[in-house]
Amino acid sequence: MVKGKCKLCLKDNVEIVNSHIVPSWAYKRIRENNSKQPDPICIERDKTYSTSKQLKEYMLCKDCESKIKVFEDFASEITYNKNGDSSFISNYKGECKEYTELKVYSLNKDQAESLRKFALSVAWRASIAKSKKLKGVDLGEKYNEIARLSLNNEIEIPQNISIFCYLHRNIHNNKLYNFIEEPKTYKEKKYHLNKTEECEKHGIQLVHIWEDNWNNKQDVVKSMILNKLYKTPNKIYARKTEVKEITDNKLIREFLDKNHLQGFIGSKVKLGLFLDNELVSLMTFGKRRVVMGKKSTNDGEYELLRFCNKLNINIIGGASKLFKHFIRNYKPKEITTYADRSHSNGNLYEVLGFDFVGETQPNYYYVIDGIRKHRFNFRKDVLIKQGFDPNKTEHQIMIDRKIYKIFDSGNLKFNKTL
Ligand SMILES: [Zn+2]
Repeated sequence: MVKGKCKLCLKDNVEIVNSHIVPSWAYKRIRENNSKQPDPICIERDKTYSTSKQLKEYMLCKDCESKIKVFEDFASEITYNKNGDSSFISNYKGECKEYTELKVYSLNKDQAESLRKFALSVAWRASIAKSKKLKGVDLGEKYNEIARLSLNNEIEIPQNISIFCYLHRNIHNNKLYNFIEEPKTYKEKKYHLNKTEECEKHGIQLVHIWEDNWNNKQDVVKSMILNKLYKTPNKIYARKTEVKEITDNKLIREFLDKNHLQGFIGSKVKLGLFLDNELVSLMTFGKRRVVMGKKSTNDGEYELLRFCNKLNINIIGGASKLFKHFIRNYKPKEITTYADRSHSNGNLYEVLGFDFVGETQPNYYYVIDGIRKHRFNFRKDVLIKQGFDPNKTEHQIMIDRKIYKIFDSGNLKFNKTL
């Protein structure tokens, strides 16, 4: 029996057990039992070899080992075993939203927390382990302690720790699955932006899916996700399409409401790509919105307002074909555009030759019956006209009405000078 100090609860002079750093079920699932060489392959900086050795170390007391086992058991349930079954999925009672290659299962708060803690527990164990093989994993003193407190159920996992191990592939049927946490409303200004930025630092694009978009524009959301995963089912080459100017506002409205998350907005120039007379891609431009303190916009200054394809179609070279047509025919001097950081990293604009100029502050919306309403309709002067107390601020009036704000992640601003 080994006695010592438990690294999780910090009790001293207790029996310490030999803990797995990566759970044993994970090793079982990656072993290829039918093969002559069933062991997983281990890749190190200077050598590659196969080994049946599992990473273990004496670090936890028995009680703490069982605390972590709860999270491991949930992670085990959710992932696939060797037969291609996931007990979580086979016993799932909720509604599974299915779409082409994507299936979405909702997790409740406790399940999402277990999954987060599982991921954190692996990172933490690897970080505090003495093994030379894990030298490269180090959360640092501060985060080791935060992780320890969270795993010991003394604090909640802080917001700035995001764990993103949600997506994985079932190798047995080659389908993608996504587990999401049920949406909540948050009032703090930078709540969503902080998460976006924390992910960006690690080279990860975080996509925020708003509840109202999920409920009312689910097809658009799903098409966007497929596009980000390079899984868009249909492909057209832009050279097979024809650029046309569109004057029919009804067609524009229908197309944007059906295919763009933000829907219709009035515009001055509307360019479409047509395939056999069917609109498959749309780009719209307006005169640049007047900036405070600046004279009304100069000629030649435009804003690219909307760009989208028909759902589930990828048009190779489509955006640049529309954009070039605009430049050739309208001879703009300067074009500005914004990418919504909730779901875009603006890489399309970089492809089109825009320069990144800066970030805008998060915008807020009021949530009424689960739908985000633009704050423009709740300005103080509008509220006073509706009979609300003129001595109160917009914020106070809305709080009294129990209507709360939600902040997005702000925009990225891009510019192109010609
Ligand atoms: Zn302990």
